[in-house]
Amino acid sequence: MAKKLTILLVYTGGTIGMIKDYKTGALKAFDFNQILKKIPELKQLNCEISTISFDEPIDSSNMNTDYYVKIAEIIEENYSQFDGFVVLTGSDTMSYTSSVISFMFENLQKPVIFTGSQLPIGELRTDAKENLITSIEVASARENGQPIVSEVCLYFEYKLYRANRTTKVNAEQFEAFASMNYPPLAESGVHLYFNEHLLFKSEDKNQQLVVRKKLDTNIVILKLYPGITKKVVQSIVGIPNLKGIVLETYGAGNAPTEKWFLELLEKTISKDVNVVNVTQCAGGSVIMGHYETSIELQKIGLVNGKDITTESAVAKLMYLLGEKLTKKEFKYHFEKSLRGEISDTNKV
Ligand code: ASP
Repeated sequence: MAKKLTILLVYTGGTIGMIKDYKTGALKAFDFNQILKKIPELKQLNCEISTISFDEPIDSSNMNTDYYVKIAEIIEENYSQFDGFVVLTGSDTMSYTSSVISFMFENLQKPVIFTGSQLPIGELRTDAKENLITSIEVASARENGQPIVSEVCLYFEYKLYRANRTTKVNAEQFEAFASMNYPPLAESGVHLYFNEHLLFKSEDKNQQLVVRKKLDTNIVILKLYPGITKKVVQSIVGIPNLKGIVLETYGAGNAPTEKWFLELLEKTISKDVNVVNVTQCAGGSVIMGHYETSIELQKIGLVNGKDITTESAVAKLMYLLGEKLTKKEFKYHFEKSLRGEISDTNKV
C-alpha cells in the first residue's frame, strides 16, 4: 500500500479552535490536540495528521511579526518531515499573515494552506469542518507523485485562493474572502477542481528553501480621503525612522495635485522612505500617468503597486525593507511579481 501522506496542522488561534461553554455561553479555546476526536471525519482522509498548537492561542487581532516568525519557524523545522501544511488562524488578519508567510518562504515546493472559520468548530452550522477538511485535501493533493499546490494559499467557503491576493470582505457571511484581481486556484464542489494553469510554480525546483525572517515594521498605511489636511499628512510622513508608506490612492492611482501634498511626498521620498502607490479600490490596478492626477506621483518617484492588495503591499514592504535594498532595487523588486502577488504587466 502507498505510504500515507503526512500533514501538519498548525493552530495559532481564532474562532475555528473554539467551543462554546454551554453553561456560560462564552467561547473558549479547546485543546487542539483533540481535533481528531472533535472531527472524526478526518480519519477518513488518506493522510496522517499531526498537530502543533500555540501554547496560548491568539485572536488574530493580536498577530504581529514575532508570531509570523514563529509560524515560519514551525513550518521550517518540520518542512522535510511533512508533505503539506495547514495553518489555522483567525480570519480577521488572515490575509496579512498569509501574505507575509508567502514572502518569507522562497523556493517553496510544498503546500501551505491557511484556513479558519466564521463559526466555532462545535457549532451546529459551523463552516469550520468543510474549511478544515478541504484544506487538508488540498494540502495532500498530488499528481504524478508531486504536490499539485506548492505555494501559500487561503481556503475559505469552497474556494482556494492565492493567499497574497486575498482580502477579508465580510465579517458575517461564510464567504468572507475575495480575490478581486486573481481567479480562485481551485473550487470545491462535488469534485475538487484545480485551475492548474493559475498555480504558482517556482522557477527551479532544485533551489533550496530559503526562509526570510527579517521583517521591518517601520511602515504606515496612509489612506487618502477628500479633505485630508496638511497637518495629518505632515504628522504621518514625520514619524521617526519611517521607511515605507503604503499610499492608498483613489481609482487608478490618483491623488490630489495640491502643491503642499506633492512637496511633502517628494521630501519624504528624498529622505529614503519608499512610498508605494496602491489603489483603495477592491479590484483593478494603479495606472501611473493615466490621469493628470497621477503623473506627478510618477515624476517624484512613487513605486507602482499596480494591482497588489493593501494587505500584500504591507507584507511586501516589511519583507523587502528587511532585505536592506537600495532604493532602485526596492522599486525593481516591488513592481515585479515575487510570489504571484502582483500582475507583471505594466498598464499605461
Ligand atoms: N476574531 C477572530 C480572529 O480573527 C475571528 C476569526 O477567527 O475568524 O481571531
